[in-house]
Amino acid sequence: MSEFDAIFVGAGHNSLACAAHLALKGWKTAVFERNATMGGAVQTHEYTVPGFRHDFGAMNLSLFAGSAFHRKYANELKTHGLEFAPVADCFASAFPDGRWFGVSNDLETTASRLAAFSAADAATWRRLVAGFMPEAEHLFRLLGSPMSARALAGTGWNLWRKKGFSGALDTGRLLLSSPRAWLEETFESSHVRTTLAAWGMHLDFAPDIAGGAVFPYLESMANQAFGMVLGKGGADTMIRALSGMVTAAGGKIATGAEVAEITVAGGRATGVRLASGDFHIASRAVIAGVAPKALPGKLLPDGSGDAGFDAAMKKFRHAPGTMMIHLALDDLPDWRAGAELRQFAYVHLSSSLDAMSRTYQQAMAGMLPDEPVLVVGQPTAIDPSRAPEGKHVLWVQVRMLPAEILGDAAGKIAPDRWDEVKQAYAERVLDIIDSYAPGLRQKILGRAVFSPLDLERENPNLVGGDQVCGSHHLTQNFLFRPARGYAGWKTPVANLHLTGAATWPGAGTGAASGYMLAQQLGGN
Ligand SMILES: Cc1cc2nc3c(=O)[nH]c(=O)nc-3n(C[C@H](O)[C@H](O)[C@H](O)COP(=O)(O)OP(=O)(O)OC[C@H]3O[C@@H](n4cnc5c(N)ncnc54)[C@H](O)[C@@H]3O)c2cc1C
Repeated sequence: MSEFDAIFVGAGHNSLACAAHLALKGWKTAVFERNATMGGAVQTHEYTVPGFRHDFGAMNLSLFAGSAFHRKYANELKTHGLEFAPVADCFASAFPDGRWFGVSNDLETTASRLAAFSAADAATWRRLVAGFMPEAEHLFRLLGSPMSARALAGTGWNLWRKKGFSGALDTGRLLLSSPRAWLEETFESSHVRTTLAAWGMHLDFAPDIAGGAVFPYLESMANQAFGMVLGKGGADTMIRALSGMVTAAGGKIATGAEVAEITVAGGRATGVRLASGDFHIASRAVIAGVAPKALPGKLLPDGSGDAGFDAAMKKFRHAPGTMMIHLALDDLPDWRAGAELRQFAYVHLSSSLDAMSRTYQQAMAGMLPDEPVLVVGQPTAIDPSRAPEGKHVLWVQVRMLPAEILGDAAGKIAPDRWDEVKQAYAERVLDIIDSYAPGLRQKILGRAVFSPLDLERENPNLVGGDQVCGSHHLTQNFLFRPARGYAGWKTPVANLHLTGAATWPGAGTGAASGYMLAQQLGGN
């Protein structure tokens, strides 16, 4: 048995960022991770063929590069090996009619592509880009502040002071809009609308879901303004750097160490019991980077002592699942729509807003979508170090899928457990890519398929393959994440805090919940 100031359940990047900050503030910290490797959704492994490095989950590290944690600790992270690979050609969509549109960091390049679809859209884009930094100030402040009345009042006051009442209402309206509402009132080309709407599908914002417009807006403008970044050699560069910071500051990280119980005495968290039977004491904080459902009756066998909190954690809603297909390739896909697509980090494949809405609805109804939305990542187009010379990896994210299969919208795959159908469904995905990039199959040197169930097996926070650990719809975001009254990372158990994607400000690699909690506990 050992005694620490703070014990972390899980080595997701939020926990590691929090542990690093507290360790540097002199706290004695320990991180216990059930897996053999750290990082949770941010890991890189040779899943297919030796020498081909695949990002298990997150590939785009722009949120981390732009985070408050990175601003504060850029030097320390660099000392511990953090390296980014900058991306100029960020995201694109290829369409069944053979056309494509893409956003590159160079404004003239993007604007000329837009003009081929609509001169009005090209002008609108320039206007949006010109107005982005003043708008982003408010949105980034909102997303980077705790959900406290004080912080919200400060953000609101600043917004009103800088934009006036009407301007503030415009920002509020953007935050409430669905992707379709914003895209249809802003752009006239359906190709442009569809390209941007794909960003909502990275979360669970199908085109008609209120509150989703801000994601296409922020991603497209931020990619235009700053480009994108990947991890050099793999996304795990950030995990190695974070864990290096923790251990250099005296923190302990144990892998293969599942936490079976958070021990509680007198309404206060006192430490953890590992699955191995070992106990460890935490005198100041236990910080759980877990999905809310893992608390009542599981990590907290007797519950939290607050029936309302326990019920809210049990009812926490997860978004539809994801399948990941990792391919080792002889060469990048030959995109029918244009060879330029080979240089983009992401190529999205979905024909229209309606197709995205249908896919989401099918997944919600338990059906295997006939036309899933595909995010085809081409990391080696940017960072060739991830594969042997001249070879490539493809990172294919399949959005959105049911956790439990009740049927097949295409009527071809008999409903069964994911282990039985995942290869057949992966064939459907490869057929779709092949229809946009003929000859893909002949280039495949190896493949690894992770069904939604496999994602959850790898990381129990990805419940049902939910890559964002909880729906971000308005009723479960902002002051309601993970539940009303608990957006400040606290729980009814004294000294027990939550962090991670299930907590404010949600999923992504921005380390925001971990760092904000760390500052709350340990000061700036
Ligand atoms: C397929 C996929 C693609 C994604 N792509 C991107 C992207 O490109 N860009 C982006 O910004 N974001 C992306 N995301 C989202 C982002 O990666 C996650 O939101 C983020 O990494 C979650 O971090 P976290 O700190 O919440 O912890 P997690 O990454 O969820 O890690 C939690 C850790 O806790 C461990 N754990 C859980 N329970 C226990 C226990 N009882 N005992 C010990 N350990 C435990 C788990 O094993 C895991 O290692 C993606 C996610 C997925 C799954």
